[in-house]
Amino acid sequence: MSKLDWLNQELSGLKDQGLYNRIRTIGSAQGARLVVDGKDVLNFCSNNYLGLANHPKIVAAAKEATVKYGVGPAAVRSIAGTTDLHIQLENRLAKFKGAEDVITFQSGFTANLGTIAALVGKEDVIFSDRLNHASIIDGSRLSGAKIVAYEHNDPSALESAIKENAGSFRRALIVTDGVFSMDGDIAPLPALYEVAKRHDLLFMVDDAHGEGVLGKGGRGIVDHYNLHGKVDVEVGTLSKAFGVVGGLVAGNKVIIEWLRQRGRPFLFSSAVTAPDAAACLAAIDLLESSTELVDRLWENARYFKAEMKKAGFDTGVSETPITPVMLGEAPLAQQFSRELFENGVFAMAIGFPTVAKGKARIRVMISAAHSRKDLDQGLSAFVKVGKKLAVL
Ligand SMILES: *Cc1c(COP(=O)(O)O)cnc(C)c1O
Repeated sequence: MSKLDWLNQELSGLKDQGLYNRIRTIGSAQGARLVVDGKDVLNFCSNNYLGLANHPKIVAAAKEATVKYGVGPAAVRSIAGTTDLHIQLENRLAKFKGAEDVITFQSGFTANLGTIAALVGKEDVIFSDRLNHASIIDGSRLSGAKIVAYEHNDPSALESAIKENAGSFRRALIVTDGVFSMDGDIAPLPALYEVAKRHDLLFMVDDAHGEGVLGKGGRGIVDHYNLHGKVDVEVGTLSKAFGVVGGLVAGNKVIIEWLRQRGRPFLFSSAVTAPDAAACLAAIDLLESSTELVDRLWENARYFKAEMKKAGFDTGVSETPITPVMLGEAPLAQQFSRELFENGVFAMAIGFPTVAKGKARIRVMISAAHSRKDLDQGLSAFVKVGKKLAVL
């Protein structure tokens, strides 16, 4: 017996259940098509919603910043790692989103960790949607606060949970995903806000999949529902629609000021690089200059979802470009993904623990980078594999 035997047992258990994640290797820039494991395929699984990850203007901005600033930040931001580009980025993001202030983090994940743990502690309670993202769950655990999960997207369940619990704690935070990444449904933010307001509780939304997608020209979920100044904390990511990397927190000035003092990933981990910040600034320029990419993204999403439904697939409850194709058991979803790949389409199977057992699926991510021809190629591959595996 070796002390590592349990790991081999766990790993072979994952393989037996169809839950072992075989990660493919990309050999090209992100776009509508990719070179994956040496093969040219249609890309149906990246979060590059607007096709910005390889946009010439954004690449040029990153190159220019590399020449001027080099590559690494060389220190955490609070010591010597904040450039004028980082400050510009935060100011431009605040203006773009109509928020009082913005702080950026290395990622959406660290934005959630840093923010939640800075706002609540051991004497406090967090009311959290049952389907919230792992980074919200981890940030909540890290804070030491009591976590009360309420039924998904259910403001009255939230209210009951508050009535039962809030009285026995110092402070309370309500937190929800804006767009739920596995199902593509949108949180009923105005109704949740009414509950938060009635009880005067901190209200936070993680809009990673809504940044650059929802709202006017991609200004996010707070803009989509016109809740400016009402949501205390809006977390976003620069790694999805923005096509770069990084996280952001937009909101009330005093909250952002507190995060600059007490957001631990901000204080103890180096920031995104100057070329990243420059690339994000170029992405804001593009989004502010035209809604064309956001419009095309939605047009593509509507077309693809309607055609998939017509073909007989179950695309769940999505209201956004995230298109789950519900298959049920994880081994079937994995086989479906492999067959799609054989047919030139890269679309990943998603199973437990990312989604509940029995709810395995292929998640198709639609992008403004897809042409009609790309979408049609994807559709016909889905129909062919669906028939072969008796899903249709
Ligand atoms: C993707 C995602 C994150 C993490 O964002 P990164 O910038 O990739 O770290 C956080 N929250 C939600 C809801 C997400 O979908």
